[in-house]
This record gives sequence, C-alpha cells and structure tokens, in this order.
Amino acid sequence: MANTAGKFGPYPAPVLTAPVRSTGTSSSTAAARLPVRQQTGAELIRSRIALRVRLGVLASGERLPDTGVIAEELGMSEMTVRRALETMCQDGLLDRRRGRVGGTFVATNWDAVIEAFRDADQAASLEDFHLLLECGLVARSAGELPPDWASGLQAVVEEMNATVDHAELLRLETCFHLGLAEALGNGMAGEEVADLLGRLCLLATVPDAGRLQEANKHHADLLTALELGRLDAAVGAVKAHCLAATSPTS
Ligand SMILES: [Zn+2]
Repeated sequence: MANTAGKFGPYPAPVLTAPVRSTGTSSSTAAARLPVRQQTGAELIRSRIALRVRLGVLASGERLPDTGVIAEELGMSEMTVRRALETMCQDGLLDRRRGRVGGTFVATNWDAVIEAFRDADQAASLEDFHLLLECGLVARSAGELPPDWASGLQAVVEEMNATVDHAELLRLETCFHLGLAEALGNGMAGEEVADLLGRLCLLATVPDAGRLQEANKHHADLLTALELGRLDAAVGAVKAHCLAATSPTS
C-alpha cells in the first residue's frame, strides 16, 4: 500500500475525490430536475391494478388473483405485493373479506374512491413524459413499420367512433396508447407505457365522453400520417392529442 501510494503519489487524491464529487453532484441534480421519478414496487402494483380496472380486466367488486400470481406476473416478491394490497385496502381501493369465499376484492366504489388520489401536477409531468415517449416512438418507427401494423389500432379508432359509453371510451383510449407502444416500440416500450398509463389512471382527471371522442380524431390523424410516412404530421397529431387531453376543460 505504501509503495503504491508512493509510486502514484500525485494521482490518488484527485482520482479518489473527483468521481465521488461529480457522482454526488450529477445524481442529485438529475433527481431534482427529473419530473417523473421511478415507482416503488408498491406503487407499481397499485398502478398496474388501476390499469387493469381501467381496461376492464378487473371489474369493481371482482376478486384479485392470489398474491403469488400477482407477484409472479409483476416480478415482485409476495411480501411486496401483500404490503401494497394492504395499503390499497387502507386507502379504500380494495376490500379484504375473510372466510371461505374471502380474498382481496376491487372496491365496489372504486371510481368514487379513486377521486381522492387525483393529482394534477403529477399527472401533468406524466403526460409530458408520455408525450416525449410517443414522439420518440413515432420518429423511431419512420419508414420501418411492419406490414399490417395498424389494423388493431384502426379497429380501436372505429370502436371509439361507434360508442358513447364513457367507461368504454376510457378503456379504448387506454387501449389505443398501449397498442401504439406495442406496435411502434418493437417490444421495448410496452412496459414503460403501461407503467405511465397505470399511474395516469390513478392521478389524472378523467375526460368526459365528448372530449374522448374529440381526441379520437387525433388517433385517426396519427395513423393516417404514419401510413403516408408523414413524420411531421404524425408528431403534430401526437402533440395535438396531448394538448387536447391536458388543457383545462372550458
Ligand atoms: Zn388517445
């Protein structure tokens, strides 16, 4: 040690201190500037359950799968799942029932309870991040769309045009953006977009039916622009859609 220290005498001090200082500074700055922090395990479970309720995979009053099943699906420990569900029960989002037909259930008044968790500032940050991700996906896909990539998305647009049911419109709205990430993300962005949309299900104010139908025009514009290879128009449609979703209701 003495030899090494002596041999590299002038160097150890700056080499040892410089990385520590720079790492500390850069990470704290990044954390302060990043509007969207990563979710904890419990938050991820919460947002994934919210996403499933939005998508109609889980209905109000329906029993959740066993903790082991949820843990495996999300790659979490059963302990984390149990704790997350416990918190959701305390918050009134889930109900725990004992006995032979017991288990953990989605609260029958989920829609009413969830209103207490809306957070416009956090939702705006997540919407911004989602916009960034979608613009990136659109740009990345330019000229590289697989055949028949849009048929599922086109069907969602048509279904949205054909319904006035609010819950169904909300479900389809979420389906469209999940499907878009799947279609354009080449298997890379689906999880991230599902995380974002799940969080938005909890935090963002729900647009009314008219607004959702109005915003569906941007979906159609986006698909047309991508089909035509018009990158500028495609990005324009994504931006216009985000603006329509986040601007205050008049
Ligand atoms: Zn949309």
